[in-house]
Amino acid sequence: MAVLVLDKRKKPLMPCSEKRARLLLERGRAVVHRMRPFTIRLKDRTVEESVLQPIQIKIDPGSKTTGVTVIREDDTDPEQQQVLMLMEIEHRGQQIKDTLIQRRAFRRRRRGQLRHRAPRFHNRTRPRGWLAPSLQHRVDTTMTWVNRLCRLAPVTGITMERVRFDMQAMDNPEISGVEYQQGTLHGYEVQEYLLEKWQRCCAYCGARKVPLEIDHIHPKSRGGSDRVSNLTLACRGCNQAKGNQPVDVFLADDPKRLQRIKAQAKPPLKDAAAVNSTRWALFRQLQATGLPVITSSGGRTKYNRQRLGIPKTHALDAACVGPVTAVTHWNVPTLTVRAMGRGSYQRTRLNRFGFPRGYLMRQKQVKGFQTGDLVQANVPTGKKAGTYQGRVAIRATGSFNIQTQEGVVQGISHRHCRLLQRADGYGYAFQPKPIKEDATRAA
Ligand SMILES: [Zn+2]
Repeated sequence: MAVLVLDKRKKPLMPCSEKRARLLLERGRAVVHRMRPFTIRLKDRTVEESVLQPIQIKIDPGSKTTGVTVIREDDTDPEQQQVLMLMEIEHRGQQIKDTLIQRRAFRRRRRGQLRHRAPRFHNRTRPRGWLAPSLQHRVDTTMTWVNRLCRLAPVTGITMERVRFDMQAMDNPEISGVEYQQGTLHGYEVQEYLLEKWQRCCAYCGARKVPLEIDHIHPKSRGGSDRVSNLTLACRGCNQAKGNQPVDVFLADDPKRLQRIKAQAKPPLKDAAAVNSTRWALFRQLQATGLPVITSSGGRTKYNRQRLGIPKTHALDAACVGPVTAVTHWNVPTLTVRAMGRGSYQRTRLNRFGFPRGYLMRQKQVKGFQTGDLVQANVPTGKKAGTYQGRVAIRATGSFNIQTQEGVVQGISHRHCRLLQRADGYGYAFQPKPIKEDATRAA
């Protein structure tokens, strides 16, 4: 994993290797600027003296997790790319949604105990482009990290996956015929579209998480077309059992399912735009950064990933977004960045009926520490003796909990703690390499 480097005026330089960073720190030529992602600052260099190469941020936005990869383009061919950093942002959209629903219920209960008041409900408007708070949060956290990375590395461009499947690349699937062929990018777009349309399960038996094959509802051998409205997904067993029977014969004893498949086959996927609404909002904000933004489709990502033989993770998916011919150095640990929030504004804990249960303390800091700070604790003696590094949760007593990579360690005194990085609303952890070293050596 590369180390991000700043010059003495905090302007970004080219990221360097871990070894080089270690040497620079040992010789006193650099200081640690930030722990996560690890960034050093050179004491004796300015950006004018060094040569910068093109660096790109690649983004694969997801509903729960967004993959972010920083890559360096080859000088001669920008499609030859070297991975510098893998990152996964874990969003808390669901949590935001749940708290808002809870707040609404509490307020409704409180209002219910007032004397009668005529209902007011139609007195609010929403601005154009409004997104639900849980969705806006996904856009905001991704933008936070894009902006942060732009301050820490000399980024020259952004590539993002904007849509699941590219309607244009499919020649408007529901209108004209499609010659889908396995192995081409074209086929991948159709497959992604079908997966979305048929909810990623076998249309005939409902099996999930099995390899799905494309099946002609009206068999090709009986004159069925390659139009997407004649295609569905079937597991291997169902596909073979159906063979070249017409769907009416195959599902003669399950009229309900037959009707459902026939109904679902015809209409095109209307809510494809709704699925991609967050991605579009993100795209517009990325454009506002002023950097050139390239967009791509999910079909192309999958095509690249399978062609290059790269395992599926959110971060590695991001590395495969857009036009790519080769990806190197991708087998590195991934930095997981989990959105944790910055604590609650509400100081009263409520029970499930909305009555007060207890109160939180007013001040956010105890003995100079705040919940969310990255700390290192050196406990010299006692049952908890050892060194722990992680996210601290403060207690008024000064006896803290530390969330380490291995788990929570409770009851660590503030006297043993040393601050490494102030709370910034995110929790950090490392995931091991996608492929173990021994496995690659054996192969
Ligand atoms: Zn099946």
